[in-house]
Amino acid sequence: MNDPFSIAYARELDGNDPLRHYRDRFVIPDPSLIYLDGNSLGRLPLQTIGHMETVVREQWGDRLIRGWNEGWYQQSASLGQKIAQIIGAHPDEVILSDSTSVNLYKLAYGALQLMAKRTEIISDDLNFPSDLYILQGLIRQFGNRHALRLIKSADGISSDMTELLRMISNRTALVTLSHVAYKSAYMYDLAKVTELAHMHGSLVLWDLSHSVGAVPVSLNKANADLAVGCTYKYLNGGPGSPAFLYVRKDLQEKLGNPVWGWFGEKNPFDFKMNYRVADGIRKFLTGTPPVISASALEPSLDLVLEAGVGAIRQKSVHQTAYLISLASEWLISLGFRLGSPEYADRRGSHVSLKHAEAYRICKALADPASGERPVIPDFREPNNIRLGISPLYNTYEEIYLAIEQLKRIMENKTYEKYPGTRDAVT
Ligand SMILES: *Cc1c(COP(=O)(O)O)cnc(C)c1O
Repeated sequence: MNDPFSIAYARELDGNDPLRHYRDRFVIPDPSLIYLDGNSLGRLPLQTIGHMETVVREQWGDRLIRGWNEGWYQQSASLGQKIAQIIGAHPDEVILSDSTSVNLYKLAYGALQLMAKRTEIISDDLNFPSDLYILQGLIRQFGNRHALRLIKSADGISSDMTELLRMISNRTALVTLSHVAYKSAYMYDLAKVTELAHMHGSLVLWDLSHSVGAVPVSLNKANADLAVGCTYKYLNGGPGSPAFLYVRKDLQEKLGNPVWGWFGEKNPFDFKMNYRVADGIRKFLTGTPPVISASALEPSLDLVLEAGVGAIRQKSVHQTAYLISLASEWLISLGFRLGSPEYADRRGSHVSLKHAEAYRICKALADPASGERPVIPDFREPNNIRLGISPLYNTYEEIYLAIEQLKRIMENKTYEKYPGTRDAVT
């Protein structure tokens, strides 16, 4: 039995990992790079390259406009069906569309319109700022009739169900939360919150951006109303790949799309002068979908489906727990604090470590002294080093080396030579 704080132990864990071969399915031009940012932008699957070559050269280059009748027109729905399998929804409840922010806008708008008599929206102060901006904008557009009430996290890490219980009432039109919080990785009990909201007659809109592809989600089982999510994080769809939205079947007719466009029309190619709403989930589309970037998503969805979110989650739980055990052993005495929930069932697939010098430490990780391996984490204001674990390609050895390197950076104070001024994108 190897010492649990040795690299031999990390390698043993890799040797026993049933998903270890999936790493070979990704493009890894620099094997020395320790990439712990798959929760911001997933790695490129090898198969995507050949697929894009086909899409660009054959579908676009050769087939030209004929491509629309050879798969492009159905693509938003067909990729939506694959995402539906990943989030536990029916195939006709999910569609690929726009960005997460725009989808949140569309569904939250529909929800507020449907709940016209109710005047409160509940979210939390752990939520992704863009989600809160969308809600603030909507409130203004609805004539400032709504109050946005935020559940306040006591420790900046976890949310508090008792706070939600205290706030929710028959005035609550909509509860909208990130399933997994972007900074701390706190994970809500999706089914429990949904049930609580329904007891008060409120709708729930989940943002799955930080959970989809990393954590099993069962929207139908929870009877969830609405959801949106991102595809360039754990779904590895590439920079700016289109987002998705989910609307439970029985709500699709009741909920309106605030942006009427021809792709949400009953039959766009009738070119009717007056809008007739499309049947089903397609009504939530607006304009021409981004066929090229949507195409990049297909091989990676197949990869996630092949590996299975259950197996991915199992490895993710082991890997985040392993990271936390190393950090507890080596880093807590050096001024770090755990910025994520300790309990695995309340934690997504990344781990935040807090340190007053977090920004400069991140710089030192990414730009190591000679002989060291570069580590890419990301920094989230004001003091979070966010270490994203994407189990399809991250190894235990990488986690070991990253935490060991953090320890060395602190012991040698190498972070002190980096300025604290922020880059535009952190
Ligand atoms: C990444 C992320 C988004 C991204 O929004 P876009 O509009 O696609 O840029 C939104 N919400 C959450 C919670 C996220 O983590």
